[in-house]
Amino acid sequence: MEHRCPTRSRNVVGPVPYGGAVPVSPATAAAGDAVPVPVTTGITAARKRKNRAIAAETRIGTVRRARRMNRTLAEAFPDAHCELDFTTPLELAVATILSAQCTDVRVNLTTPALFAKYRTAHDYAEANRVELEEFIRPTGFYRNKTSALMGLGQALVEQYDGELPHTLDQLVKLPGIGRKTANVILGNAFDVPGITVDTHFGRLVRRWGWTAEEDPVKVEHAVGELFERKDWTMLSHRVIFHGRRVCHARKPACGACVLSNDCPSFGAGPTDPAVAAELVKGPERDHLLEMAGL
Ligand code: SF4
Repeated sequence: MEHRCPTRSRNVVGPVPYGGAVPVSPATAAAGDAVPVPVTTGITAARKRKNRAIAAETRIGTVRRARRMNRTLAEAFPDAHCELDFTTPLELAVATILSAQCTDVRVNLTTPALFAKYRTAHDYAEANRVELEEFIRPTGFYRNKTSALMGLGQALVEQYDGELPHTLDQLVKLPGIGRKTANVILGNAFDVPGITVDTHFGRLVRRWGWTAEEDPVKVEHAVGELFERKDWTMLSHRVIFHGRRVCHARKPACGACVLSNDCPSFGAGPTDPAVAAELVKGPERDHLLEMAGL
């Protein structure tokens, strides 16, 4: 199954909706709770009380629960990683730009031939536009992406001797690279901890009551405060893996979810184990169902 890439850059092709918030009951919304109790159906009164208790926990309670959930996710997804193929920081930057409005699978099918021909920032800076467009056409929006890649190559040659810089401030000033993409590059190519707030990440951390923020930068800061800096990059991968495989936007697999004990949104999706198990995707499916006791 193909997935939308978490690292797609909104700089290239315009805004991508940042949706996925859990619907909130009118009473809760009116009360203005920082962490709203999500609308859930088909769960017991005891479980509803538990969901409300989680949503009303103290700050230290949230920190402990969030770290416990991260440990569970680490067990669930021991191989969580950036799903774009790359061998150098430049290749990761290029792959991330290409992943705007495209799947990781499609990008990974396109980049081997591209990376064989375009090896350095100079190659992109001096590219023949029509030729480069043909290479990346399968990823969609290829004209905008070609402009971004050529602009990136030119900026790297002019400002950084053809190398990618290592800081967020410098990266976000480059063509085609927004904050999310910069954090992907920092975390995965330079080993500098970064939180990647893509649509999955934002949706899930709000579902989990880690934050009620909608703005990606505010989400990044709020979640960053719950964890040690060294954990940021792997946390991002695990949350995104869980969002792609289990906690789907429309039908989360609550009845087969390894996080059900700690999730205040339990019941947002089917709670029947057999029904929920059918919703779990990906190569880790058997392991996830076993962890969930199914
Ligand atoms: S799938 Fe899991 S994490 Fe997502 S809402 Fe359901 S119980 Fe919570």
